[in-house]
Amino acid sequence: MAATVSEPLRFEPILKRLIWGGRRLGTVLGKSLGDHDDYAESWEISDHHDDVSVVCEGALAGQNLRALVHESARELLGSEAGTRAQFPLLVKFIDAHQNLSVQVHPDDVLGPKLAGDNGKTEAWVILDAEPGALIYAGLKPGVARDEFAAALEAGKVEPLLHRFEAKAGDCVLIAAGTLHAIGAGVLLVEVQQMSDATFRVYDWGRVAPDGRPRKLHLTEALEATKFEFGPVNPLASRPETIAGGTREPLARSPYFELTRLRLTGPSRVGAAARFTILVGLEGDAEVIAGGVARGLAAGQTLLLPASLGEVEIRPAGARATVLTCVAP
Ligand SMILES: [Zn+2]
Repeated sequence: MAATVSEPLRFEPILKRLIWGGRRLGTVLGKSLGDHDDYAESWEISDHHDDVSVVCEGALAGQNLRALVHESARELLGSEAGTRAQFPLLVKFIDAHQNLSVQVHPDDVLGPKLAGDNGKTEAWVILDAEPGALIYAGLKPGVARDEFAAALEAGKVEPLLHRFEAKAGDCVLIAAGTLHAIGAGVLLVEVQQMSDATFRVYDWGRVAPDGRPRKLHLTEALEATKFEFGPVNPLASRPETIAGGTREPLARSPYFELTRLRLTGPSRVGAAARFTILVGLEGDAEVIAGGVARGLAAGQTLLLPASLGEVEIRPAGARATVLTCVAP
């Protein structure tokens, strides 16, 4: 029987350990970590292969996102849901204690062909960056396929990449086909298509715990890279005044639209036609919906089902900053 989806959904984080991870998912974002030093990602909302988010609070506790999409698509995703088989967006926090590999993701045409997965366009909102921490995003102007292929062969990709110093609050849109790497010292939230299709081109000369270099995917990466794309920089944005604070449109893509709310009083989020994802960026907020109040601290994520429509959000203290994400 289909579940009634009528409250904000909180999911159990799915933690990923990778060689470049650290401990800030716990120390800064409040996730429960074990004893290791390489917690890299916290998948907050996921419906990908074996990584399926499970509701951890409220009337639907224990239900997983895939089952909810199958059984309650209209309530969860809205009237446009049709026969969608998978939740469309993956939200994760990333702690780059070391550099991530230089990588590229395929688009919706090449994803299925090269990786048996969806395409992957992603966007980042930087939560924290150590002084001098770098983002690598796109190739320098004029770098063509031949030059890049030769650099790949020689293991000298880094000089061809555009880079800038990461700053908290920056939003960066990485369209599928853009070479990129998140540099050491960056903590961010990533919103992306529901995909894990990644082609690694350079891993900074390091080896995995088994003593061997991690696998590179040079052929696929050359096919997936869009050489017509140039350097990528943080997006410019302009806050607008709304009831209870400001609203600042950030990244827009065919897959997601991100907006930052800086709240100093009660405001409204959500829409009846579609789901809305909320991510706490700073301070503590509270969402009042479906007869319940759900806390949204920095580092936490909530999914507002379409069935809730517009709901109230307010800072628990003097102010809170929240990222909202919808599928257009
Ligand atoms: Zn990526």
